[in-house]
Amino acid sequence: MREVRVLIAVDVEQVRLRSPGTISSYNDDGTALGTHDDDDWVVVSRDVSGEIRFGASRWRVASIDVQPDPIDTVEVSAYRDGEWSDGNRYPGTLRIVVRDDGGLDVVNAVEVERYVACVVANEVWPTFEMEAYRVQAIASRTFVLHEMLRRARAEFDVTATQRSQVYRGIRTDEPGRRATEAARYTRGIVLTYRRQGEDRLFCTYYSAACGGMSQSAAIFGRENDIEPLSGGVRCDYCKIAPGKTYRWGPVRLRKEQVRARLLAKYPELRSLGEIQEVTVVERTPSGRPVRLRITGSGGEFHDMLAERFRLAMGGGEIKSTDFTIRMTGGEIIFENGRGFGHGLGLCQWGMQGQALQGKRAGEILEYYYPGSKLMRVY
Ligand SMILES: [Zn+2]
Repeated sequence: MREVRVLIAVDVEQVRLRSPGTISSYNDDGTALGTHDDDDWVVVSRDVSGEIRFGASRWRVASIDVQPDPIDTVEVSAYRDGEWSDGNRYPGTLRIVVRDDGGLDVVNAVEVERYVACVVANEVWPTFEMEAYRVQAIASRTFVLHEMLRRARAEFDVTATQRSQVYRGIRTDEPGRRATEAARYTRGIVLTYRRQGEDRLFCTYYSAACGGMSQSAAIFGRENDIEPLSGGVRCDYCKIAPGKTYRWGPVRLRKEQVRARLLAKYPELRSLGEIQEVTVVERTPSGRPVRLRITGSGGEFHDMLAERFRLAMGGGEIKSTDFTIRMTGGEIIFENGRGFGHGLGLCQWGMQGQALQGKRAGEILEYYYPGSKLMRVY
């Protein structure tokens, strides 16, 4: 089993590293470049001449591989827009790559089980039942192994953000300890579905709360070509989610606000002018909006995926695309909101609700991904 490569920093100006023992650096062909023995930070940056600086050393290479002593972790912090980020401690090794535009990317290669233990702590609520942590561990492991197969030839397998799964290195707090235990308990167990006589991994999407029914891959503009992601799973287990999650709204936004937020992400929509109205032009069979039409004051319109629109508005405010829209003079009102997140695949507050009722991890996963089953792959 190869290690998973996680993109932990993108296009930063400098990176600094520290570790209790020696940090060794290598060229991409394995040639030793240099070491850093001090337990203080060593700064890595790109020189104007195109060389990589590693503390006081400089080498003309496209990337450097960084390795702490085998029993140690390496703390990484990145410099961008005038400040250093908080340091996170990472297991495994790092590759620091010079981008074509001169910035630095950092990729952490880490053993899959350690990665799973790290992400589960960030992807569940700390108070979740142990059985819910186990459900998450199996979903997160399946997700990453599927990405590793799909992206074998790419520079990295997953990002460290919500686009993949949130990864911030090692956590030693209580959720971190529980996540590690859940990963260990479910070691090597994944979720598969059978297609053309073969058991296959699939992309185990998950989101906070489905709000009543899971959605299909159509919300991302894709065909629902596999049964586990075809949606339509009824769930009111996520009713227990706190705050306005299972049901939310109304959220009132002024038309100028909607326009400003859209343009911040999609500047090409400037030609629409003032926003006249937002309507639903396509829905899933269960009625959830899939595609919205944004009509400008001149009558010109643009259709976009409701999920993209939601994220442009700020995913914390418009919690899901399961809403109805009402227009008043100057405002667009999103109401009758259901759920939090895209609603595809596993419902996380639903898994907690089911865990509280004594359901086991396997039953919960097979419930949210119909037609799938657990399998041990190592
Ligand atoms: Zn649910």
